[in-house]
Amino acid sequence: MKITTAIFDLDGTLLNTLGDLCDSVNCAVMRRGFPAVTEEQTRQRVGNGVRNLIRQCIPENKCTEAMIDICLDEFRTAYTERMMNRTQPYDGIQPLLKQLKKAGVSVGVLSNKYDLAAKSLIRHYFGDLVQITYGERPDTPRKPDPTSALQLLRELGGDPATTLYIGDSAVDMQTAKNAGLTAVGVTWGFRSAAELKAAGADALVDAPAELLPLFERGLFNVDAICKAFTSRGFGFTYFPTAADALPYLTDTCAGRSVTLGGSMTLQEMGFPDAFSNSTAVHWHWVRKGEYFQKPDIYLSSANALSENGEVVNIDGTGNRVSATLFGPKRCIFVCGINKLCPDLESAVERARHVAAPLNAKRLGVQTPCAVDGKCHDCKSPARICRAMTIHMGPPLGMERCEIVLIGEPLGY
Ligand code: SF4
Repeated sequence: MKITTAIFDLDGTLLNTLGDLCDSVNCAVMRRGFPAVTEEQTRQRVGNGVRNLIRQCIPENKCTEAMIDICLDEFRTAYTERMMNRTQPYDGIQPLLKQLKKAGVSVGVLSNKYDLAAKSLIRHYFGDLVQITYGERPDTPRKPDPTSALQLLRELGGDPATTLYIGDSAVDMQTAKNAGLTAVGVTWGFRSAAELKAAGADALVDAPAELLPLFERGLFNVDAICKAFTSRGFGFTYFPTAADALPYLTDTCAGRSVTLGGSMTLQEMGFPDAFSNSTAVHWHWVRKGEYFQKPDIYLSSANALSENGEVVNIDGTGNRVSATLFGPKRCIFVCGINKLCPDLESAVERARHVAAPLNAKRLGVQTPCAVDGKCHDCKSPARICRAMTIHMGPPLGMERCEIVLIGEPLGY
């Protein structure tokens, strides 16, 4: 299911604000003669509103409500002057927001930072890439209370079923849960993956680019996908990252003859270097035109997988798709999560209209799709789409046909 609305946290999710927050806290507390705090201490204390941050930065024996008020005023003055000194968007956030805008996703920001600062920062760094921003406002409870999240959702015109709430702290995960939204934890921010998991994150991402597949198709249920493939007789193994999958593949291939189908996925994963010392590897990308169709193991990616347990591939020469049907004792399809589609129809659509044009562009062939990235069902002599296979189950006679699904985007 496509995601149509996103609610982002601000500090630690979109912007690295730690330096300016820490400097402003120190302006306030040092003026009162209290010790300075470090950026690490600030990192641990943000997330529950600035009053709480200041409370934790005043020595216990001086920490009265009156003293918090004084320091809070000084913090606000200092932060207003310096909040854009050292603050920067995290790498990959600007491109992500641009992509979401292009895809028509409505984007809002919900922060426990005071409202004026939250709005100023978002306007300065992201302009119209964010539609609505709410910071901490009088008479409205802070996160993790769901009031502001639900108000923001209404104003963005979002549906909870197709909305992701994205943040870097336990408070964010709790806010999402309290509002009935899907909680996505980001691990590049102020808190650990363990804290996000313990707070109920539905998914964790390590880089902004990993969010895009979630927007394209929502979260996926690995158990249901595993069942869809295994009930058809395929083997199925899931790994969260390519680095996790690599040892499994190298161990499986060690001592056996292996052929690799032309595959950007495998190349991005570091094949065949990962196991070229432990086995005989045949790869026509290395020795051009040399096709060895009867190895112990044939490794390929796929152009698309359906969540109903089907594998879709398009080929030009035919060596790749033929080897996945007949010849090898064993075939392993290694696929990033970007290949997963809700059903067979969308898998065929992906293979034809996403994977094939991208491959034509990569190969630099003389086809219309290589120019504009769209399939024209061309009759060009250079057409790379000559045959399409749909594996509905493992081919008879093959010892094992397996899907290795990896929870990050890989290849086309
Ligand atoms: S059919 Fe032609 S235009 Fe369409 S993706 Fe294949 S090569 Fe490109």
